[in-house]
Amino acid sequence: MKILLVSPPIYDFAAYDFWMKPLGILYISSILKEKGHKVYLIDATNRFDSYYSEVKSDRFGRGKINAKTVLKPEILKGIPRRYRRYGLPRKIIIKKIKEFDPEVVMVSCTMTYWYPGVVEIKKILDSLPIKPTLLLGGIYPRLLPIHANSLGFDRVYTGSGGFIDEIGVEIPDDFSRFPPPDYSHYENLEYAAIATSLGCPFFCPYCASPNLYGKKQNKEAEQVIEEIEYLYKKEIHKFAFYDDALLITEDRFVNLCQKIKERGISANFFTPNGLHSRFLTREVAQWMHKVGFKEPRISLETTDEDLQKRFSIKTTNGEFIRAVENLSTTGYNKKHIYTYLLAGLPQFSFPSVRKSILDVARIGVKVSLAEFSPIPGTPMEQELPDPLLTNNTAFYYYKGMGKEMERIKQLVKWANKGIDLGISIKEIKDYL
Ligand code: SF4
Repeated sequence: MKILLVSPPIYDFAAYDFWMKPLGILYISSILKEKGHKVYLIDATNRFDSYYSEVKSDRFGRGKINAKTVLKPEILKGIPRRYRRYGLPRKIIIKKIKEFDPEVVMVSCTMTYWYPGVVEIKKILDSLPIKPTLLLGGIYPRLLPIHANSLGFDRVYTGSGGFIDEIGVEIPDDFSRFPPPDYSHYENLEYAAIATSLGCPFFCPYCASPNLYGKKQNKEAEQVIEEIEYLYKKEIHKFAFYDDALLITEDRFVNLCQKIKERGISANFFTPNGLHSRFLTREVAQWMHKVGFKEPRISLETTDEDLQKRFSIKTTNGEFIRAVENLSTTGYNKKHIYTYLLAGLPQFSFPSVRKSILDVARIGVKVSLAEFSPIPGTPMEQELPDPLLTNNTAFYYYKGMGKEMERIKQLVKWANKGIDLGISIKEIKDYL
């Protein structure tokens, strides 16, 4: 069967290729090919598509996604930010669909507020003379099944695994049985996203991970090293781990690092999802440094100990400071260590977020702001008139907190700049 996989264009106020790959459908592609299907991928936000004559990336492979400003949907009219469509032009997507002429189309969508991209693909398919079976899957339909079912697809997959009747293929329930992701669709690949596990053993009430994956599911280090080595031999030297809990357990992680070293793999590794400081021991830090992890990112969320106990039992200030020390004594410059702090949670007052930013900057490491948005299906979900309002930019303006959030973002910029320039926190505060 000819099966087309589609990762749609993104409609958002901001989007950036921060090692962004549709990893879920790359696994599906491998599963489908194992069953003998002919598979083609349209990754609409692939910056390296042959359509583009020039692509600029930073030294770690990240870069801007081609975008154009579009009219805002009615519900977002009051948000004073430009709304954009990120990705390949519509006419290129149409050309690719026509050339492949699929019998089945599987569309995948991650963020709930990116559903306009799914709607666009559905409209394109409806406008063409071909009549493939239309399937929809991914995190969006799992979190918002009723909404996703309203978009007119022949079948919407709202679970994690199971049998896809339309094509007679079973998606394994356990991540350890997933094949390697299929990167053969990419002519040009500057980096690869990979995962050693799905899920997380913690239950933070603002996070979708516990709801999506239940218990943590791991691949063995032996499986992961095969995936890395295969891509490495194809000249991929940058890898971003998509794990929610990469360091759990430390032994498994150290084992993987040892194998990276044993196989002579000389690459850069990144942790865009943040590391748990509790498990960032001296040994783990040493291995990270030895095998080429760059710009380590640690999840802290807040330095307020009461809030940590209530929301983020995953770490304490003491564990965070120890993790930073482990990294810096191992050879990481503190300027290159990033700390995720959470802003916008109703219980996290803005003065408390401001204090957390300054506390972290005082330690000499940088802040990366994670803006809360109420994810459906989590204990912190909120009733909103449209999933578009779960977009973090839209959510703050809708709640009348947009200006405060902009000030917080400005403080983060100054704090990080101050660290680069060696300016003290006191001077930053005076400037503000
Ligand atoms: S520790 Fe991180 S990944 Fe795990 S539940 Fe909490 S926020 Fe989610």
